Amino acid sequence: MINEEELKILKSKALNDHIPIIMDDTLEVIREILENEKPSRILEIGTAVGYSASQFAKYTDDSCIIDTIELDEERAKQAIENVKKIGVESRINIIVGNAVDILPTLNNKYDIIFIDAAKGKYPIFLNESLKLINKNGLILADNILYKGYVMSDYNKHKQRTAVNHLREYIKEITENPDFESKILEVGDGLSITRIK
Ligand code: SAM
Repeated sequence: MINEEELKILKSKALNDHIPIIMDDTLEVIREILENEKPSRILEIGTAVGYSASQFAKYTDDSCIIDTIELDEERAKQAIENVKKIGVESRINIIVGNAVDILPTLNNKYDIIFIDAAKGKYPIFLNESLKLINKNGLILADNILYKGYVMSDYNKHKQRTAVNHLREYIKEITENPDFESKILEVGDGLSITRIK
């Protein structure tokens, strides 16, 4: 049983503490995807304090397991406490470490992978995710439009490296004939890629 009150408290605390959590409109799109796809196992890259992982638990069957990776030890610690308070700890495995190192060590296969961590690492995350995704699975990437920088010709911004890596990610998902992709202008941009 999900403790909705604790989930609400987690959201407002995260926003207060300026922890970047999934935006409401992005979550609404993912909710629909989860309800349609009925995944058995989800991988999330970028747990923060466990908000999106808890929401994913809410929108999936009780048998669905969510593995989620967080680099920052303090955030991961908070996430472990938060998922307990919300009552979803039996369904969420929080893995502490750098996803670049963790991803090659994972043995499970996933129906949905949600990428929501360092933007400069998105091409690496995609490459590793392709080894872990089930056929017909979906790879979702949040913040793919990065405040509009990705689609503008303004390239002198201090975040240029991240922008270039996001562009590289978009090129790969839109040009590879093995993928079916769309990019939605919800939140900070969400890409949805079906692996054929
Ligand atoms: N998915 C979370 C939510 O909506 O509730 C928000 C995740 S936040 C946007 C991104 C998180 O990714 C941060 O907590 C950050 O510490 C983590 N992160 C950044 N680089 C990472 C990496 N290489 N491996 C694992 N986690 C990383």
